[in-house]
Amino acid sequence: MDLQETTADRAFRDEVRAFIAANLPKDLKEKSEAGYRMHVADGQRWHKILANHGWGAPGWPKEIGGCGWEHGRQYIWEEEMALAGCPPLSPFAVKMVGPVIAAFGTPEQKARFLPSAANGEHLWCQGYSEPNAGSDLATLRTMAVQHGSSYVVNGVKIWNSYGHQADWMFALVRTSTDGKSQEGITVLLIDMKTKGISHRPIITIDGSHILNEVRFDNVEVPLDNRIGEENKGWTYAKFLLGNERALIAQISQSTKLVRQIKKVGLQELTDGSPLIDESDFRAKLATIEVELEALRVTNQRVLFEAKTGSAGNGGAILKSKGTFISQALSELLLEAVGYYGSPWQMEALEQGWNQPPVGPGYAKNAMPLYCRQRANTIEGGTEEIQKNVIAKQVLGL
Ligand SMILES: Cc1cc2nc3c(=O)[nH]c(=O)nc-3n(C[C@H](O)[C@H](O)[C@H](O)COP(=O)(O)OP(=O)(O)OC[C@H]3O[C@@H](n4cnc5c(N)ncnc54)[C@H](O)[C@@H]3O)c2cc1C
Repeated sequence: MDLQETTADRAFRDEVRAFIAANLPKDLKEKSEAGYRMHVADGQRWHKILANHGWGAPGWPKEIGGCGWEHGRQYIWEEEMALAGCPPLSPFAVKMVGPVIAAFGTPEQKARFLPSAANGEHLWCQGYSEPNAGSDLATLRTMAVQHGSSYVVNGVKIWNSYGHQADWMFALVRTSTDGKSQEGITVLLIDMKTKGISHRPIITIDGSHILNEVRFDNVEVPLDNRIGEENKGWTYAKFLLGNERALIAQISQSTKLVRQIKKVGLQELTDGSPLIDESDFRAKLATIEVELEALRVTNQRVLFEAKTGSAGNGGAILKSKGTFISQALSELLLEAVGYYGSPWQMEALEQGWNQPPVGPGYAKNAMPLYCRQRANTIEGGTEEIQKNVIAKQVLGL
């Protein structure tokens, strides 16, 4: 594995930069630079532009509509998009359910679901957690009982991101109570418009409505929407979790944050000296930057070794380190912008509020970002669970 960027890599980086410069719509660029909140629709719009260029699903093989890029190229692509302030793409379709359908779905399911996942047309959400099944996910109790050519689903999912906007959910359901709890789980693809699905919003500490409690009351799901074999869903669920954890590491976003913090640090304080001149600030930033560089290398190694299409248990290492770094950076940004960062007004994050925008975008976003990043150590499996996975599965303790 070569960690250095080759001449071809650098040429590719230039190509990505040029594409973004020519194709990122001006209003989205301005919105990003002014620090306004990016919405799901912004991400979908950008995803469509990328897909029209053939860049909708970089990690997928070409045969199923992807770019077939190896991990190094995917990383460059992601980093350039983050640094340029492109709207974030929803990861649920391309990075989570897409690879599962590609690996375990039928030819019909691939033809039906992958094209709209690759171009961002359909928004997906994840139905794993339940009120009594989070860390101990295998104890989930949402039941799916076969009735004719459908399953009838009853139960509750919680902490479901974007369920109120999603077209589809990939859900873990219980189809058997015999044997070990892991052995009775099945993966279903559920159309969110199906009769019997309702949701209740959960507002998070940063004031956003992203999370939901989703109820299923006698929801009919065609048998054709089952991924792989009945009761074998735990295998597919773990395949997906490895990739989910790897993406929560947010290396590209952290790289962007480092740049922003340096920019703030170069500005003059009231006494005329820039913050970067303060040794305490410099030491904190340098420590995190070194950690980030180490994570970048680990990321390349994990993805290089992930021949199966899933980051597997390596995802736990990336998530654990990545969340520590992104939380530390959000704290440092808040410290650097000082009183400009707090308190914040939700309305000020919406485009068009109090135009022209006041202050740099990153200051406006510092407090919401700080609050949002607290969830990093919980979502996708808590920090304690990642440590358990690393101890048992990676280190064999
Ligand atoms: C912002 C956000 C978005 C999310 N989005 C989704 C989503 O889209 N879809 C979805 O399905 N879920 C989602 N989740 C849910 C997330 O996966 C769960 O919150 C997480 O797995 C923890 O489960 P829990 O909340 O039930 O906590 P619990 O499992 O009840 O854990 C409580 C505490 O006990 C600790 N603990 C539990 N078991 C052990 C153990 N064996 N060893 C040591 N410590 C332990 C945990 O680390 C934690 O600190 C999201 C969560 C957040 C915060």
